Amino acid sequence: MIMSKAIIQIDANNFYASCEQMIDPSIKGKGLVILSNNDGCIIARNSEARKMGIPMGKPYFKLKNKLNQLNINVRSSNYELYGDISNRLMQLLRKNCEELEIYSIDEAFATIKRPSNKYLYQWGSELRGLIYQNIGIPISIGIGDTKVQSKIANHIAKKIKKNSGLFDISIIENKDYFLSQIRIDEVWGVGKRMSEWLRIRGIHNAKDLRNMSSMKLREKYGIVGIRIQRELNGEKCIPLQVKQPDRKEICISRSFGYPIDSLAELKKAIAKFVISGSQKLRKYNQSTSMITIFTNTSHYSEGFFKSEAKAKLEIPSDDTITILKPCLELTNKIFKPYKKLIKAGIIMSNLQSKKYQQNILFNIQDVKQEIKRNKLNKIIDSINTKNGRETLNWSSSVLDKEWSPRRNKISTFKTTKIESIPIIFAN
Ligand SMILES: [Mg+2]
Repeated sequence: MIMSKAIIQIDANNFYASCEQMIDPSIKGKGLVILSNNDGCIIARNSEARKMGIPMGKPYFKLKNKLNQLNINVRSSNYELYGDISNRLMQLLRKNCEELEIYSIDEAFATIKRPSNKYLYQWGSELRGLIYQNIGIPISIGIGDTKVQSKIANHIAKKIKKNSGLFDISIIENKDYFLSQIRIDEVWGVGKRMSEWLRIRGIHNAKDLRNMSSMKLREKYGIVGIRIQRELNGEKCIPLQVKQPDRKEICISRSFGYPIDSLAELKKAIAKFVISGSQKLRKYNQSTSMITIFTNTSHYSEGFFKSEAKAKLEIPSDDTITILKPCLELTNKIFKPYKKLIKAGIIMSNLQSKKYQQNILFNIQDVKQEIKRNKLNKIIDSINTKNGRETLNWSSSVLDKEWSPRRNKISTFKTTKIESIPIIFAN
């Protein structure tokens, strides 16, 4: 029996590479790789680069010559671009599905009611067309009765070309053939350890897992294992998380393009992290009362050095200046002369929703201050959202160019920076 409500899993294909190709169509159809922060390793590639045998995770400098020879394009990661395209994708999905769970930057689960003939192929191919037309990104759609099934359907949609990015496993009466095509470690929720444990017991694919003894599975993995097995069988056990859970902490850290060894520069870096962290707090309507800052030298350097320091805020806050002050003092504590620092960061923890924040009795002067700062923060946030991240900045964080992470091969900011929007002349 086919259930009337289907679970859909949507996944953008080679997301980072697709974003880069969308913003620069001249590189479409050619090999492309994306580098990690600081242009260190290859973290994404398009299908052309994969076919040419370019591996993931390898250091860029080792493959530089080969990439050159093969005429493969190289880009630094452009997270502003990927974040912006992801937001647009999720907004369109929200409009076109019933419930939506944003699962990662390029993946979502959704629900949709089946039409009277039960077939969702037309709806799905229209959705793919709509996304491609509006955002320029190809997506794959997996359809099933459960989250685990929809993930499997998506694998099949990607693997088998003739499915053209769309596969509905619910309407297949005997699913054995398809389930046996899915390796055990490709089943959603089965981690590395669990797949090793299963393989030793002769369980190699999704079909084997569905058919194995529930008793054995429960003994070792309890309810977690049983849920996966039941979901494989079409029984809903893992609900959609439509409301994003409140975040527990915000961590912002960066590797520097070049080692730094001055206190002034470390303070600028920490200030920069505080500014973007407190902006995040305000975006999610949260405040922090515990701040940790940290830094370290290279693991490979002689006399490896790392240090961290913590401060508690008396009153939870989301205000840049209130958080900045103790952080700059803490920076004096973590700094040590002559150490070549390559990384630093901050963690904001004990986060709480501002909705439930206790009102603490301020004196009237404090209240006035607070209102003023709230206004100021709001103005800065809205200007920066509209015109690009660092349009307005605090002077304590203005950076000397050298230590910002290396992004020599960055694409443009055509979708997030007003001055980068292309100009079209019409005569
Ligand atoms: Mg993807």
